[in-house]
Amino acid sequence: MNSSSFSLLFAAFLLATLAVKLWLASRHVRHVALHRDAVPAQFAHKIPLAAHQKAADYTIAKTRLKIVMLTLNAVVVLGFTLLGGLQWLSEQLVSLLDSSMTYQLALVAAVTVISGVIDLPIDYYKQFRLEEKFGFNKMTPSLFFTDLVKHSLVGAAIGLPLLWVTLALMEQAGSLWWLYAWLIWCGFQLFMLGFYQNLIAPLFNKFTPLEDDLLRARIEGLMQRVGFASKGLFVMDGSRRSAHGNAYFSGFGAAKRIVFFDTLLSRLQPNEIEAVLAHELGHFKLNHVIKRIALMFVMSLAFLALLGWLKNQIWFYQGLGVMPLMNGANDAMALILFMFALPVFTFLFSPLLSIMSRSNEFEADAFAAKHSNSQDLISALVKLCEHNASTLTPDPLHSAFYDSHPPASVRVQKLLAA
Ligand SMILES: [Zn+2]
Repeated sequence: MNSSSFSLLFAAFLLATLAVKLWLASRHVRHVALHRDAVPAQFAHKIPLAAHQKAADYTIAKTRLKIVMLTLNAVVVLGFTLLGGLQWLSEQLVSLLDSSMTYQLALVAAVTVISGVIDLPIDYYKQFRLEEKFGFNKMTPSLFFTDLVKHSLVGAAIGLPLLWVTLALMEQAGSLWWLYAWLIWCGFQLFMLGFYQNLIAPLFNKFTPLEDDLLRARIEGLMQRVGFASKGLFVMDGSRRSAHGNAYFSGFGAAKRIVFFDTLLSRLQPNEIEAVLAHELGHFKLNHVIKRIALMFVMSLAFLALLGWLKNQIWFYQGLGVMPLMNGANDAMALILFMFALPVFTFLFSPLLSIMSRSNEFEADAFAAKHSNSQDLISALVKLCEHNASTLTPDPLHSAFYDSHPPASVRVQKLLAA
């Protein structure tokens, strides 16, 4: 491969990916707008027209903002790579720090900070205009900025040492560095899966044990029926930031905790909460969680091996607008280029992951219907759809491409048919 053909290939994929994304988004907007004036027949008696229209307006507003973000992102990637942004940044940092390890850490940090600053106005707009307009924002600007500072500090405290280890391996561990880096990365992921809930989540939210005795008894009954051990049931103050509701698990083995957003508990009846939890337990019992982690590990091994090869190819740097340094110290640049280039070349495969994820959702729904009650799950799905203003009428192709969950209308149909 020579560097100018790689430049052309990269530009072509970047444009094609952007074109497909914009096409999907505009289809989605049109499809939702077209179905705005009638609630789908099977939900006609369950969801009022006003709620259906709110969901349509919210979906359209979010998708339009996404169109802006996608375009901006493509411009940023192009600016960093082919238009010479990274080359310029690297020259400035080399003149300050020579081609040292500090230079490499600073380069990654600078790219991360610049990307974050570019995204900031849109994040702010999304929270305080868009979410606010539809009644979902519960944040104050001061909480928004406190979160930003905390996220950046936590990100730096975790990210910089991990980056340093990776760069040290790339430089000193020989041609199999990517294998060692992979082992460390997997160990780190498992550590975070085990300890995120104790170490990091409390920096952002309060967790209190679930106190509702009736609900507790119900949930414990369900856990016993399906044979699930848990270290505790917790309620998280999700309402500090958003009116959207959710439930999740954290931890491993017998140390698993179940966390409910307070916004979920306040909206659903105990029988509906049980059905939602039965769905989540289904993901564990059917080994979806383990399979997802295993798949993530296999994919990251393949990508690291690919990076191991690419980092020694001059056309990889030059093709993306960067002159490699003569005296080495190009590893951080290789990492950054890889992070920019990978999504450009893999996006068109993303429906494969969505297909897998959606089939898992149907299996978890079937599990919930078997161990809890399908009518309860249906009424919970309908309520969550209404409260979260999720559209019942997404564009089918947009949904097939992106959605990790099938549309509620399809899930309800399957539950009714079973
Ligand atoms: Zn699920």
